[in-house]
Amino acid sequence: NCPAAAVADHQIVAGYDDLDAARELGRRADRITFEFENAPESTLAALAESVPVRPRPEVLEICRHRVREKRFLHEHGFPIGRHAAISGPDDLARKLDSLGLAILKRALGGYDGKGQVRIDRGSDPNAAWTAIGAPTSVDGVESAVLEQFVPFKREVSVIVARGADDRTAVFPVFQNDHTGGILDLTRMPAEIPPQRAAEACELALAITRALDVVGLLTVELFDDGHRFLVNELAPRPHNSGHVTIEAATTCQFEQHVRALCDLPLGCPDLVRPGAMANLLGDCWGTDGPHVVEALAVSEVRLHLYGKTAARAGRKMGHLTAVGATTSEAMGRVLRARDAFSDS
Ligand code: AMP
Repeated sequence: NCPAAAVADHQIVAGYDDLDAARELGRRADRITFEFENAPESTLAALAESVPVRPRPEVLEICRHRVREKRFLHEHGFPIGRHAAISGPDDLARKLDSLGLAILKRALGGYDGKGQVRIDRGSDPNAAWTAIGAPTSVDGVESAVLEQFVPFKREVSVIVARGADDRTAVFPVFQNDHTGGILDLTRMPAEIPPQRAAEACELALAITRALDVVGLLTVELFDDGHRFLVNELAPRPHNSGHVTIEAATTCQFEQHVRALCDLPLGCPDLVRPGAMANLLGDCWGTDGPHVVEALAVSEVRLHLYGKTAARAGRKMGHLTAVGATTSEAMGRVLRARDAFSDS
């Protein structure tokens, strides 16, 4: 009687925009979800004709489009940084001076620091627009956003699971370090006072309910030490949550399946403090990665994503470690990554 079991029986391999294959998949499956944000709207609509798609496709439409996402958050009174929606280089030229140091981001399709560029008063708007790929507006919605640079103290993320019955479970807060716009390190629990962690969780829960998410919602937050600003939302399992496999009672992937299949949510509590270090293609030396040396570090696990070509900046896998404290887990995962990529 578990719908998840039925999903495992079928495999349909098709292009993301193959609507016939989508309808066939919809007829065979009990639930549909995604862990990839670029599924076309028409594909999700075709699936939704015959099977519940969770989170509902409208959630994805909001979360994957930076302008729509900002509008949603603003209209619901959630805290966000100063920003302006931008429709093209002329619009950018008009608004550039109002924000000072800022980041221009394309609204759709940018990820891992791609499709964004730092910009300041006096920068060349045409060059900045070209640098983000000169995105065109669709349905009258601006195709980029200019965000004032937030001088945050730390970045955290909160992952909420919510069932169709409105039950929720929230993982302990994750603390994240990015390098060049790409997630580099995560530790769990975040090194912030319990009261502030509770505040971050309350904010994430309120956003999850306002969006009516069934499944997982990841809320990325900037923390200036006093208050949180929402950076972005991801309605799916998230890179910062990978460490839950080792560090939490129920991992984010199981929690997602439980939520979408109307099963009771698992306990999200910490088992042991944990840390995660991403492995980019840059960690592959000329003689390949040093797996044996990395795994020799106590309580370390290696996860590889099966990608064949290791390119600079490409996420190839990650390492996790647990320990008696967050800093012990961090020390271990960093030692393991050094050993992995030592040439
Ligand atoms: P994003 O893809 O929007 O999450 O951006 C990737 C990373 O770039 C963030 O996690 C931050 O480290 C940094 N970043 C993005 N937007 C801003 C901002 N407005 N102010 C400061 N740093 C930012």
